[in-house]
Amino acid sequence: MYVKSLTLKGFKSFASATKLRLEPGITCIVGPNGSGKSNVVDALAWVMGEQGAKSLRGGKMEDVIFAGTSGRAPLGRAEVTMTIDNTDGALPIDYSEVTISRTMFRNGGSDYAINGTSCRLLDIQELLSDSGIGREMHVIVGQGQLDAVLRATPEERRGFIEEAAGVLKHRKRKEKALRK
Ligand code: ATP
Ligand code: MG
Repeated sequence: MYVKSLTLKGFKSFASATKLRLEPGITCIVGPNGSGKSNVVDALAWVMGEQGAKSLRGGKMEDVIFAGTSGRAPLGRAEVTMTIDNTDGALPIDYSEVTISRTMFRNGGSDYAINGTSCRLLDIQELLSDSGIGREMHVIVGQGQLDAVLRATPEERRGFIEEAAGVLKHRKRKEKALRK
């Protein structure tokens, strides 16, 4: 399984439709500061269902929609499509190629689709959940996050490890139960 392509349209700085074709193995994106490298990573997280504006480096969810520049008017919607090669059947769906897309409108409405058929966010989360990618998985290490780990106090560091190991949610549940 690997990401074959990612298409951004109206997503952050990518006003016009931009298609990135990827090969198996490692992909590097290089470019000057502010050219949109991290926006590509945000698009990956977003299309897989990310719901936190902060994780997408914005104040509110609408911040992912192209906000306009001096020469170009703002757009009304953001759209990201990710095509995954599934010839190894890693995703539990009977297709060798799986396309996931997410659209968001400025009025707050949003749409998800798998292989062109409209679906719920939950369907995307379930499709990706056993594959080791997707939300809540530590597959995306954000800019500055390595520094944060290196500079963390021992307590904070334990928090990172607990989160990665999936212990954190149980600890939170336990604390909540004890408070009752
Ligand atoms: P660095 O090397 O500094 O990490 P980068 O290549 O990762 O840079 P990004 O953070 O991906 O850069 O891109 C930042 C740019 O994206 C900024 O110029 C910002 O104005 C633009 N941008 C972010 N959100 C939007 C939006 N909604 N509409 C238009 N432009 C946006
Ligand atoms: Mg960056």
